[in-house]
Amino acid sequence: MANSNRPTTDIRHVYRGTFVHSTQQAPLQILEDALLGVDTEGKIAFIGKGAELDRLSKTFGFSPPDITQLEQHEFFMPGMVDTHIHASQYSYAGTALDMPLLQWLNTYTFPVESRFKDLGFAHRVYTQVVKRTLRNGTTTACYFATIHTDASLLLGQIANDFGQRALVGKVCMDRNNSVKHYKETNQESQEETCRFIAELLGKKYPLVKPVVTPRFAPSCTGVLLGQLGEIAKNNNLHIQSHISENAEEVKLVNELFPESESYTDVYHKYNLLTDKTVMAHGCYLSDEELALFRETGASLSHCPNSNISLCSGVLDVRNVLKHKVKLGLGTDVAGGYSASMLDAVRRALDSSKVLTIQDPEHETLSFEEVFRLATLGGSQALSLDDQTGNFEVGKDFDALRVNVAAPGGPIDLIQCDGPKILLEKFLNLGDDRNIVEVFVAGRKVVPFTE
Ligand SMILES: [Zn+2]
Repeated sequence: MANSNRPTTDIRHVYRGTFVHSTQQAPLQILEDALLGVDTEGKIAFIGKGAELDRLSKTFGFSPPDITQLEQHEFFMPGMVDTHIHASQYSYAGTALDMPLLQWLNTYTFPVESRFKDLGFAHRVYTQVVKRTLRNGTTTACYFATIHTDASLLLGQIANDFGQRALVGKVCMDRNNSVKHYKETNQESQEETCRFIAELLGKKYPLVKPVVTPRFAPSCTGVLLGQLGEIAKNNNLHIQSHISENAEEVKLVNELFPESESYTDVYHKYNLLTDKTVMAHGCYLSDEELALFRETGASLSHCPNSNISLCSGVLDVRNVLKHKVKLGLGTDVAGGYSASMLDAVRRALDSSKVLTIQDPEHETLSFEEVFRLATLGGSQALSLDDQTGNFEVGKDFDALRVNVAAPGGPIDLIQCDGPKILLEKFLNLGDDRNIVEVFVAGRKVVPFTE
């Protein structure tokens, strides 16, 4: 006999303990002694109170001995979303931070990225970056690869194999005066982008999708930008690029595109600002440009480590949020030296405090707000918030099991603290030793099984 309350899919796992996450209304919601069920599709089937155990177990057909109980000092939080990371630059992360953006690209970045036509090298670097980010709690990553189609496809395959949710971009650039061998012709860029999209979609990876990736306006002719806008529109794809990272770059864009009113207008003109667009940085955007972001639904990726490391600028996140522009955090490896989103959280807080030092009227971001940016905010910035970002029924279970008191870990607990203090300690002091398990779409992806 059919039970009308009975869900259509079976429950695979039930967890009981503290869950912390963000909602649209609250940057931090703490659910103590909660029960969360994950179905066989990896989706959150229910979330309720421990006291509702009897009712939930009857409705969803699981038995209490099957429940995984979290330990003291443990909690679940949503997996973190890195909205901007250059997988190819991971090979030199932690070095080469001694010059500003445009010189940095010519001196370090382009020579290294040109090596990715070697698939062996690409395999090595891409495996390391996917593993490192997953281990540090990045369940979703929005990657830049290089101009090489086959190596970019390989990055998609590796992310899929390790179970990371990813947007992967084959970089497009038909302008490069300094490292002349690292660019494409306009035709190559267009054809290879179409091949990349077709082949990656053809793999039918459940969690890995292509993202149209003009490197940034100075590396692309207007013709190429227009073609990429077309390709994204025709295939309803995500778009990523960079904008207003550094003052010299903004000046260069004004010179290269004199017919455009602003840097934002360049992308807008070529149909590259949509509700599936994420632009990195945005340190120097005017209020008018932010209004255009809001109007088009395009989002920003705030990459504070990179902004400081390359002396690019300091983004006023509060002003972006006041304009109701979607915003997430990015590591921007390797302009940002750390691949860990926990570092992005800390640098975002530091940057906000720098603005407060300069102007005591500035309303400093709270750790709860930055926690939201690293999780739900990132999923919104990537237009993936229907699938991930917090613990809502129907979303995929992308989660970190955090043990603040992990043996041998970096945190000493002196007294018995509540979950809010434990989260704050983890965000400020924790590292991968505290992230004991990572789940993406219900599948345990850390510890690695190999
Ligand atoms: Zn970048």
